[in-house]
Amino acid sequence: MRLSVIGTGYLGATHAVCMAHLGYEVTGIDVDRGKIDRLADGVVPFFEPGLEDLLRATLATGRLRFSTSYDDAADADMHFLCVGTPQRKGEYAADLSYLDAAIESLSPRLARPCVVVGKSTVPIGTAERIADYVAAHAPAGPDIEVVWNPEFLREGFAIEDTLRPDRLVFGVKDESGADAMRRVYAPLLDTGVPAVVTDMATAQLVKVAANAFLATKISFINAMAEVCEATHADVKKLSEALAHDNRIGGRFLHAGLGFGGGCLPKDIRAFMARAGELGVDQALSFLTEVDAINQRRRARMVDLARECVEDSFRGRRVGVLGAAFKPNSDDIRDSPALDVATRISRAGAAVTVYDPAALNNARRDYPELTYATSVEAAVADADVVLHLTEWQEFRELDPAQLGELVRQRHIVDGRNALDAERWRAGGWHYRALGRP
Ligand code: NAD
Repeated sequence: MRLSVIGTGYLGATHAVCMAHLGYEVTGIDVDRGKIDRLADGVVPFFEPGLEDLLRATLATGRLRFSTSYDDAADADMHFLCVGTPQRKGEYAADLSYLDAAIESLSPRLARPCVVVGKSTVPIGTAERIADYVAAHAPAGPDIEVVWNPEFLREGFAIEDTLRPDRLVFGVKDESGADAMRRVYAPLLDTGVPAVVTDMATAQLVKVAANAFLATKISFINAMAEVCEATHADVKKLSEALAHDNRIGGRFLHAGLGFGGGCLPKDIRAFMARAGELGVDQALSFLTEVDAINQRRRARMVDLARECVEDSFRGRRVGVLGAAFKPNSDDIRDSPALDVATRISRAGAAVTVYDPAALNNARRDYPELTYATSVEAAVADADVVLHLTEWQEFRELDPAQLGELVRQRHIVDGRNALDAERWRAGGWHYRALGRP
């Protein structure tokens, strides 16, 4: 079976590589020539553990190719749509222009029966609209199946999540769509990966509902952190105790600086916007609060840092550990770390940021900040150090050694991930969100 993967960003590049690894002939298509050239050369244009090795191995088999020309996708049996669906500027709704452009480029080239599989995260109703467009504009229109197969991979675990997902979801119009998906995913289904077959609307909803639930769980524990701050209770102990309850569970129950990245924030906002259009905005009104709690954590982090420098950032030096929105990623989209760093820089501090993987992206999008290529350089002469992305490297730091480099031993742990006792034993004044 020949496959095309349209859009080779975090999702599409991973999907293309993994499908070629499973034995398919795959052509990755993107409008970004630089990205395509790098992928064709065996270079992953973003940070994802293990992906470059697998890319090189699959390129060597000859089964994986990359191109900027949709003509090279034309003869595939199945086309996976993986382009971005970011938040529209100044609005909550999703920007579907990339998806529309992709389907407009692809449709006229679909001259024989095939399956178009949507993987991008979209507002409910988009899949049906795309199916209508393909039926009307592709030469083989009536013989083309459109299926929605939402993607749940996590950056940092992208290969694992693609080859061993918790579940596959197939949103189909009829049984032949489900059969096509069972065929292409047979190597995964044969290992016991569960598949849930739904109608089109439910498949689109599963993805945004999952992200709404995860965002809510994070904001729930961060709301508890706010209460802890007012009562001198300890949110870390609270979440530990809650997590023992099997009905609650410990995952995504970690209080800290909150969520960011290219998915959760924009997905809950697009979900709210779509609910408004559907006349069910009240059903999702809680997500406004989920978003607000998340934003308040960033403000609280700035306040804690300010308290460490006697209430004024002017003339102060702040060392920031972390720029990526989460560890094991170089993704800085809606990064809480860079948001906090920028607010503090604008308040008058000299802010120096270090991140193991995201420095190039951060330099490109946040040129007003200063960057360092090591922890030591970032914290040199700092009045306060902020731990904003929980990379393993930061957990392993030696507080006593680092203390020799700073002006004042103040650390604010925005991720509740450092060992407070070790830092205190190293002479640091350790503070954290939601903890006394
Ligand atoms: P991304 O920005 O990394 O990649 C999108 C790619 O699409 C870019 O390389 C861009 O050049 C390309 N593109 C844009 N217009 C195109 C066109 N007309 N033709 C071909 N290529 C085009 O985004 P991403 O993180 O990979 O996300 C893609 C989709 O997957 C989004 O809907 C996102 O919500 C969803 N998703 C992402 C993740 C994740 O962890 N990143 C997880 C699950 C779902």
